[in-house]
Amino acid sequence: YQGLAGRSTNEILQLYAAHGQQMKLQRSSVVTQLHGAIKKRLKQDLKSLHSFALELSKDFQRQSKTCLYQVLAAVQGMQLQNEAMQMFQIKAFDLEQSLQEVTERYEKEKEKRKALHNSLIELRGNIRVHCRIRPLLPFDDAAGHSVSQDRQRNFLEKAAYAADDETVLVKCSRPGHASVNKTFQFERVYNDLESQDAVFADVAPLLTSLLDGYNVCIMAYGQTGSGKTYTMLGPQSEGNLAFSIEEESKLGIIPRATQEVFRLISEKPPGSYWVEVSVVEVYNNEIFDLLAKDSCGKVFGVKRDVVTTREGKSDVPLLTHETVENASEFLHLVNKGLQLRVTHPTLVHAHSSRSHLVVTLTITTVVFGDNFGTLWEDEQSSQRLNKEAFCSFPQKMRDNKSASSSRASSPVQLEATEKMKQIKTRLQLVDLAGSECVGMSGVTGAALRETSFINRSLSALADVLGAIAEQRAHVPYRNSKLTHLLQDSVGGDAKLLVMLCISPGQKYLTESMQSLGFGTRARQVQRGQVKKKNFPAPSKGK
Ligand code: ADP
Ligand code: MG
Repeated sequence: YQGLAGRSTNEILQLYAAHGQQMKLQRSSVVTQLHGAIKKRLKQDLKSLHSFALELSKDFQRQSKTCLYQVLAAVQGMQLQNEAMQMFQIKAFDLEQSLQEVTERYEKEKEKRKALHNSLIELRGNIRVHCRIRPLLPFDDAAGHSVSQDRQRNFLEKAAYAADDETVLVKCSRPGHASVNKTFQFERVYNDLESQDAVFADVAPLLTSLLDGYNVCIMAYGQTGSGKTYTMLGPQSEGNLAFSIEEESKLGIIPRATQEVFRLISEKPPGSYWVEVSVVEVYNNEIFDLLAKDSCGKVFGVKRDVVTTREGKSDVPLLTHETVENASEFLHLVNKGLQLRVTHPTLVHAHSSRSHLVVTLTITTVVFGDNFGTLWEDEQSSQRLNKEAFCSFPQKMRDNKSASSSRASSPVQLEATEKMKQIKTRLQLVDLAGSECVGMSGVTGAALRETSFINRSLSALADVLGAIAEQRAHVPYRNSKLTHLLQDSVGGDAKLLVMLCISPGQKYLTESMQSLGFGTRARQVQRGQVKKKNFPAPSKGK
């Protein structure tokens, strides 16, 4: 602006224009330069972008190729796997089929083996032993033991299981020792879930034998609380030793056996069978007749004795035998007898397991005709029976009041029939006293007497089995009333089934082992072939 001083406006305007022109030229050259630079730069960028895109597309192609290969490989793999799977499925199906075949064959073989085993038992006169393990029950908890909580839990664990239907497995564990497994084999083992039905299903064939002319005895052995009464009679309501008739599915062997006997009889020709019942309790080595009545007809327990007859059989003179015509009559009668166990003053024990209960069903078969004479083993007994036939015909039959038409014919008819014989077979059902070895120390009075009598009678039973097993000349039946009473059943004249009852809990281990030992020894007893009462050859009319 200093140079403008003194110049005219025109000159100033010219100078301005020239300056503007110059600036314009300068600006346009800068723009041109910038434009060139930008163009160059853009070209470069485009080129690199192009090459980058090229690179990228190549890479993409490469990668997609790899992926495609991978997909193809996977598809192939899957196809292979599919084929392999199909092969496996076919193989599994084949295996399943052959397993089924093997199982079926095994079951058949098992059946055959069982049948053979049964015939062997028949031939040797072995005692059949079944073993039932009851479930763990709430009262197993109330131990009353002064043990620590840990040990208490241990006590509640199961120590005895049914490994299969012929094997009992016992886990013997002692503190500080590794547990040892022991197994015991029996003809049949029932697990804790098996029902009364299942148990009876195996007992039923013995009842067919009974009507075929064999004596049969079924006895439950085990410690108190192991399920003997449950198995033999059924569940008991509190304070009542009788069976509850309402719970039919829970009924035990005794009522079911009676039902079965009457069912089998109903299939036989009418008028040929009758059934008598006696109920006996062996308590403190005394025999009580639970069906005996006083002069007023009231039931009360009367002491009886057991004797050996001239034929060497055991007999209880004056024992009450009541004739029953059907199973419910039997249940009613036996229930009355059982209730006596808790109410009668001489039978002071509060617990059913403190005495032995023997329920006997005597089945008399009346045989008419003349084709049996030669079949009798000894003519003497045939004559004796023939003579007895009228005398011992049950009162009911003699009065001919309540005998149903399908049952035995009237005595008049019988008397008129010269060739009439009667054959008696007997079913003895025994609920033994608890087999636990209760310590005697601190026990006094009645309890001491009870315990020592139970121990003595059960060891007498074991001694008798031992003597038979060793085939000793003298078998000490008379060492106890129990063995004397059961002499004919234990000693070989009967098919004998011992039902071992086991409590599964760890705390009962000693008692369970004792019972399993008893059962194992009983199985080894060979009594020679069990004799069948001679029945006449069935006549063609039957
Ligand atoms: P025991 O006659 O050997 O002393 P019980 O037959 O009285 O023993 O049984 C003791 C308890 O166990 C009873 O309450 C009985 O109902 C129950 N019990 C026994 N066996 C079974 C079983 N298999 N299932 C369910 N409860 C059973
Ligand atoms: Mg009992």
